[in-house]
Amino acid sequence: MGLSFTQILFTVVVVVAVWRVVTFFERRRARPPVRGGRRAVDVAKCPRCGTYVPTGEPCPHCGGGPERGG
Ligand SMILES: [Zn+2]
Repeated sequence: MGLSFTQILFTVVVVVAVWRVVTFFERRRARPPVRGGRRAVDVAKCPRCGTYVPTGEPCPHCGGGPERGG
């Protein structure tokens, strides 16, 4: 009983190949696929003129400060 050198070598090659594939996918899974850019923007109504502006930004219409809610 016993494996020949070729069989051992083949087994090692297969194990290494599988291990590399597994680590490759593990690395890809570690990084969540983030596509920058598309994100819902919260808007708030300007207390002065009623224009809807992105939250945290001054009103481009009348220069009013950021206001939450509305
Ligand atoms: Zn305004």
